[in-house]
Amino acid sequence: METLEKNLRRIVGDEFVLVEPAAREFYSADLSLEEAEVAKFVVQPGTADELAKVVKTVTDAKHALSVRGGGTSYTPCFAPRRDNTVLLDLHRLNRIVEISCSDRYVVVESGCTWQALNEAVGKVGLRVPHIGPVSGRWATIGGTVAQNGISLGSGKEGTIAESVLGVEVVLADGRLLRTGSWGHREGRPYHRYFGPDLTGLFIGDSGAFGIKTRISLRLVDVPKPVLCLSAGFDAMEPMVRAQTEIARRGLAADSYGFDPVRNASIGKYTVSPREGLATLARVAVHQGLRAAFTSVRAGRSFLGGVAYSLHMSFEGTGAEATRKQALAICRQHNGIKIPEVVPTALRADTFGGLEHVLLGPDGEVWVAVHCCVPLSEAVAMVRRVQDCFNERQNRLEQNGISASFFTSHARNVFFIEPVFWWKDRIDPLRRHFVGAPATAPWADREENISARQEVRVICAALRDRFARHGGHFIQPGCYYPYSENLSDTATGDVLSVIKDSLDPQRLISPMALGFGGARLPDHRQGGKRL
Ligand SMILES: Cc1cc2nc3c(=O)[nH]c(=O)nc-3n(C[C@H](O)[C@H](O)[C@H](O)COP(=O)(O)OP(=O)(O)OC[C@H]3O[C@@H](n4cnc5c(N)ncnc54)[C@H](O)[C@@H]3O)c2cc1C
Repeated sequence: METLEKNLRRIVGDEFVLVEPAAREFYSADLSLEEAEVAKFVVQPGTADELAKVVKTVTDAKHALSVRGGGTSYTPCFAPRRDNTVLLDLHRLNRIVEISCSDRYVVVESGCTWQALNEAVGKVGLRVPHIGPVSGRWATIGGTVAQNGISLGSGKEGTIAESVLGVEVVLADGRLLRTGSWGHREGRPYHRYFGPDLTGLFIGDSGAFGIKTRISLRLVDVPKPVLCLSAGFDAMEPMVRAQTEIARRGLAADSYGFDPVRNASIGKYTVSPREGLATLARVAVHQGLRAAFTSVRAGRSFLGGVAYSLHMSFEGTGAEATRKQALAICRQHNGIKIPEVVPTALRADTFGGLEHVLLGPDGEVWVAVHCCVPLSEAVAMVRRVQDCFNERQNRLEQNGISASFFTSHARNVFFIEPVFWWKDRIDPLRRHFVGAPATAPWADREENISARQEVRVICAALRDRFARHGGHFIQPGCYYPYSENLSDTATGDVLSVIKDSLDPQRLISPMALGFGGARLPDHRQGGKRL
C-alpha cells in the first residue's frame, strides 16, 4: 500500500477510503456527457478537522483534489480530469451546526442537503431566502454555493450568493479561513461584511479557491401566504416579454417558462394514485384546500391547448396584489390564465418527484446548457436558441432527440436553459438518484452513442453562441468559458495571483474557472489567460 493511502486511512479510517474500482467509478461520474478520469482514491471525511488534514496530506503528496457534494451537476466540474486525483466525497459533512432564531442565521456543514436544511429550519417557522435547487434531495449547500445556483425564491432574492453570510474554507495547505464577521477573533457568522467581502470570492468559484467546510446562511420567517399563478401564451416572444416585465417590477418570488415541447411532455407523465394523493395532501397542507381542489379539477388537462406556459409564485402579505399585477402584465401580452397546478405542486413538494424531473415520461435522459443575460436581451437570446434548434432539426430528429427550453429569472438576471431529451441507457448515477424501481421499465435500454454525440455538438454550439453574444454562466467549471471572456487582462491577473497564493501548486479543483489550462493556454503567452 502506498504512503498516501496509508496516511489517508490513518486520518479518516479504513472504511472511508474507497479503492474498489466500482466505487471510484461511481463517485467520479457526473450527469454530463463528457469523458472523465477515475479518481485514484475516494475519501469521505467526517469532520472539518479530518477534511483539513486530508487536504494537506494530498497536496503534500502532489496529488490533485476534486470535491463532490451531491454529485447532481450536469455540466462537468467535479469529475476528475487528470491522473492522480483524490476525490473528496462530502456526504458525511452533513450536520446542521447552529440555528440562531434570534439572530436569523443557520450554520451548516457544506455536505448538508437542501432538503435536510429546509426540514430543520422549517420546524421553527424559518427559511433561507433561496429555497434550494429542485435537485435539493441530493444537492448540497456547498455545491450550490460553489456554483452560485438559481432556484425557487431567486426571483425576488437573487442567486444563492444573496443568502450567504459567511463561509469557512480549507485552503490547499490545510489552514482554515473564515469570512465576514465569522473571521473576527470573537466572531459569530451573522454579518457578511466585516472588511472586504471575502465571502464573495468563494461563491461561484466552482471550488477553485478552497473547500468549503461550513456555511452560514441568512434566515427569514416562512412567508405567508404563498400564492401561485400560471399563464398560457401562443408564442415565445409575448411570454418572455411578460416574464421580463414581471422580473423588472420585482413581483414574483420565482418564475419559470416552458416551451411547447416541455408543456406536451408534462402531460405524459404517469403518476400513480398514491403519488398523486400524496402531492395533493402536501398542496392542501402548504397552500390550503382551495389550491388542492383547483389541482384536482384541472386534472391532466392543465396545460392543454397552450403553446408556451409561464408559472410563478408570490409571497408574503402583498402576495394577492403582486399576483394581480403579474396577471395584468400577462394579459397585456395576450396571455391567458390557466390552472396553477405546476407551481402549486412544486411549492408543496419542492424536492419530491425527482424521477419526474430527472427522467422524461418514457424514461428519456437529458442534459442541459444555460446562459444568463440582462432582461432587455432575453427575447433575442431565446430567438438564438430557437434558430439553433431549427438549424439542427434534421439531425435532432434523426437521432430521436427532443429539444426544449426553460426560462427563469433571478432578480434582474434572465436565465435560459435549453434541454435535450433522448432514449439511452440509464447510467448508475441517474439510477441511484431516482431509485432502481423507477428505472425498471427501461432497464434494458442500450447505449445511444450517436444521440449523445449530437447532443454534445448542439450543447457546445449553444454554449459558444451564448458566450459570443455576451451571455454568462452560473456554473463556471471546466465546461463553460470564463477567462476567455474577461474584458481585461487585469481581472485574470488578479484572480491568478489569488489562486497562486491560496493554492500555489494549483491542485484544488484544478479545472475550475479554467485554472487547469485545458480550455486555456498559458497566460504568459499573452491574452486574457488565468
Ligand atoms: C434534476 C435536477 C434539477 C436541478 N435543479 C437545479 C436548480 O433548480 N437550480 C440550479 O441552480 N441547479 C439545478 N441543478 C443543478 C445542480 O443540482 C445544482 O447546481 C446543485 O447546486 C449542485 O449541488 P451538488 O451538491 O450536487 O454539487 P456537485 O455537483 O457535487 O458539485 C458542484 C460543484 O461544486 C463544487 N463543490 C461541491 N461541494 C463543494 C465544497 N464543499 N467546497 C467547494 N466546492 C464544492 C464541486 O467541486 C463542483 O465544482 C439541477 C440538477 C438536476 C439533476
